[in-house]
Amino acid sequence: MAPEDSDFPISDLFGENLLLQALNASNSGIIITDNMQPDNPIIYCNRRFEDMTGYGRDEIIGHNCRFLQMDDRKQEARKLLKDAIAKGKNCVVEIRNYKKDGTLFWNELYMAPVTNERQEVTHFIGVQNDVSQRKRIQQELQRQKDQMEQKILERTRYLEESKEYLTSIFETVRESLIVLDRTLRVLTVNEYFLNTFKVTLEETEGKQFYELGNGQWNIASLRKVLEEVLPTNNPVLDYEVELEFPHIGKKIMQLNAYRVELEGEYKDRILMAIEDITERRELENRKDDFLSIASHELRTPLTSISGFVQMLDRLKPDNVSDKFKEVLGKTVQHVSRLNNLIEELLDVSRIRSGNIKLYRQAFNFDKIVYETVETMKQFTKTHRISIEGKAAAKLIGDESHIVQVVNNLLSNAIKYSPEGTEIYVYLSQVSNYVKVSIKDSGIGISNEDRKKIFERFFRVTSSQEKYPGMGIGLYVCQQIIENHKGTIWVESEPNRGATFSFTLPIK
Ligand code: ADP
Repeated sequence: MAPEDSDFPISDLFGENLLLQALNASNSGIIITDNMQPDNPIIYCNRRFEDMTGYGRDEIIGHNCRFLQMDDRKQEARKLLKDAIAKGKNCVVEIRNYKKDGTLFWNELYMAPVTNERQEVTHFIGVQNDVSQRKRIQQELQRQKDQMEQKILERTRYLEESKEYLTSIFETVRESLIVLDRTLRVLTVNEYFLNTFKVTLEETEGKQFYELGNGQWNIASLRKVLEEVLPTNNPVLDYEVELEFPHIGKKIMQLNAYRVELEGEYKDRILMAIEDITERRELENRKDDFLSIASHELRTPLTSISGFVQMLDRLKPDNVSDKFKEVLGKTVQHVSRLNNLIEELLDVSRIRSGNIKLYRQAFNFDKIVYETVETMKQFTKTHRISIEGKAAAKLIGDESHIVQVVNNLLSNAIKYSPEGTEIYVYLSQVSNYVKVSIKDSGIGISNEDRKKIFERFFRVTSSQEKYPGMGIGLYVCQQIIENHKGTIWVESEPNRGATFSFTLPIK
């Protein structure tokens, strides 16, 4: 481009006119500045330069290029340009320039010096391209990248915080916690685990769960449920085992295991909580023993009292006063209530000790349910009881126990519904099950309480004062139904009555 430098000056070959035409045809803006004149003025610009900047040739020639930056002077690129001019070197910069109408455009400027035979820089040639579009895309990409990085940063921070948060919970919980990977290898355990089992982290982390201790966890049924946790997402709930552990001896442990996931992270991990329930069980056993002893001890004198009261009734002279009769009648009534309460307590202790005896025999289900309802009807003056339907099936089981269930459910229906209301008993056969439903229009049961009413000694707080009872009846019912391989449940809403149902398999 520098005619002086060339061995064969191009202008000589093609003529200046042709060269100017070539420069004007260029898609890049081209200028030439004269470095020998003060302030390095522009002495030539092609047409594209005029188009790019919006200035006319007469507004360009004679000026220093800086007018293109308008007031935007503090640009790193300007320093690079100045430096290159001072050293007479070439350089490429991307610089913010402004068109005549003030519109910003990014100029990719290639600047090269032209020297004479004395190696003095006589001119600079500037080739410029408007790269605003590319710059915009680059800036947009950069913005997106920055945004992404910011998001990643925030997410990392969030995860770190969550991790710290979870770790602090993990370590604070007063229960042995253990995290397993998909192959049931131990990833982490908390301090409480180490203290409970008196083991070190080295003996635990990285080991297979079944290898821990003396291999005591290697139980087929436990393996089965644990291996199901991840594929099915079914948790292990209240799995109870009594095992001999190294260092701590025989203990009853209760296991609960869940698949864990935190916002898509830590998938395929199992969190298991192991609770030592040995002491709780001992306490419960002691309570059960006490209950059993107390009810047996109470029953003996009570049997004598009932005998004496009956004797008094038989031996009473004909001319006793009405007051005497009334007192005696009430005594008989209360003794009988006491007897029932003690029988209930004895039922519980029999169930708890596994001493419940089932006298299995075939019996006509409809007949015994109808008879039980009939008997109850005769003794109930406060409520109407109706029965309909039939199961039309012979069952094999303990007849007296089934009668007890129907009696308990009927007594509750009477106890927990207002006088004058009706109780419906409905019998049916569903597939190979017999089904009994007992529906009342009483106080009903809340969702929360419904989950607990079959637990022993549970009573709904709000009804405790108003209605007498010990929270035993439904527990006994459930045990009896379970012993007969059936199910018992309740459907109810507060103040809208309750329907207790049970099913028993026909075969
Ligand atoms: P109890 O009646 O002696 O308290 P149960 O085991 O028979 O003991 O019942 C447990 C609890 O369930 C009762 O305290 C009562 O709150 C609730 N319940 C049982 N049957 C009904 C019913 N038919 N309607 C409303 N609540 C009931």
